[in-house]
Amino acid sequence: MRNLYAALNNTETRDNENDHIMVQIRLHGTKRQVTINAIIDSGATEDFIDKGFCSKYNMRTTQAKTIREVYLADGRPSAMGPITHTAKVPMDIGSHRELATFQVAKLPNHPVILGMPWLKQHSPRIDWGQGKITFESQRCTTWCLKESPTVYAIPEDEAREENLKVEFGVAQSKKDQRIQVKKLDTQAKIPTRGSARAAGHDLYANESKTIPARGQEVVATEISITPPRGTYGRIAPRSGMAVKHQIAVNAGVMDSDYTGEIKVVLANMGEQAYQVKRGDRIAQLITEKIVDSNCYEVQTLEETTRGRQGFGSTGTSKAQICEISAKAFGKFYRRSDTTTGILKYNKKEGRISLESVNISTELAIKSGKYEKQRKLEEMVPREYHEYLNVFEEEEKTELSPHRPGVDLEIKQEEGQ
Ligand SMILES: [Zn+2]
Repeated sequence: MRNLYAALNNTETRDNENDHIMVQIRLHGTKRQVTINAIIDSGATEDFIDKGFCSKYNMRTTQAKTIREVYLADGRPSAMGPITHTAKVPMDIGSHRELATFQVAKLPNHPVILGMPWLKQHSPRIDWGQGKITFESQRCTTWCLKESPTVYAIPEDEAREENLKVEFGVAQSKKDQRIQVKKLDTQAKIPTRGSARAAGHDLYANESKTIPARGQEVVATEISITPPRGTYGRIAPRSGMAVKHQIAVNAGVMDSDYTGEIKVVLANMGEQAYQVKRGDRIAQLITEKIVDSNCYEVQTLEETTRGRQGFGSTGTSKAQICEISAKAFGKFYRRSDTTTGILKYNKKEGRISLESVNISTELAIKSGKYEKQRKLEEMVPREYHEYLNVFEEEEKTELSPHRPGVDLEIKQEEGQ
């Protein structure tokens, strides 16, 4: 208890400059890896990893055999909480790789603390003043090292700032939909929205330029942006300029990793030269979602109802349905007329609908008496045979209840 208290307390509020350094480590979570700066601290009697950090990066944790409470000096349990879990995480420091074991705790200042157990295990030679770490023990040269035995520490301020960036980067990907804007010139203007509901932000010229009739010019904005994760920026014309002055925007797509200056290519389709003044709104910036898809070659394409018909043909495709509710299907095929429907999957709207079509009378069910003797296969059109396993003979008379959220509900309107 005393040791744990000392370890946490010392490392979190220390002022002795010469018994700790910060070093870049790479931790391998179960799904991804993260590069972060850890503190190597000879005053810490345990090796710690932050609890929140563990869950954020999918570090595998296991329940400790004994729960260890961390106490403050006055005897109250620490806000860092009891140590209930340990984490075993593959960790790289330079070319030194190991499977590190950490005590999982709520750490306010560092994501990772490498303390005495780690120092004893690897016995690196550390020049605390110079921030030089050399892995030279027999264990390290035999098991841990791939290449160079020397790693250099990172100045503490720098290391802490980098850690904050890692934290911020993750927070941004999940929640923050804002666009980061950096001014490259003090006079540059941050893009503004014309109205609260405008799709785009207006971009401002940071130079004056004449766009000749039937010509184009590149206009500087002196800003660079980082769009929210999963989006890209598109530079579109402002409708007023397009209509009144026939000014269009060319080459408007900016890749999400483009961090250079936004330059707007203005094309003048009109017969009069167009004067852009510094501070004019010249285009709009719209962020659009990206679906991160890769191309791969196939021999045949999945068949769709649209097929090879071109523009303006129907937007529906063949139903891609994993499970249809027995009830819905039953209702559908128990109709006694010859007009029935066909399931259509509308990709654009992501919903399945029933469209009325005339199908062969053999497929429609004519008489209730007859129905009981008919095999399910005969009742169901061939194109739906792959879904037969969701039905049972029983269901012709006894239908299972609709399971909301599981079954697709297909409502057939009367008279359709
Ligand atoms: Zn080692």
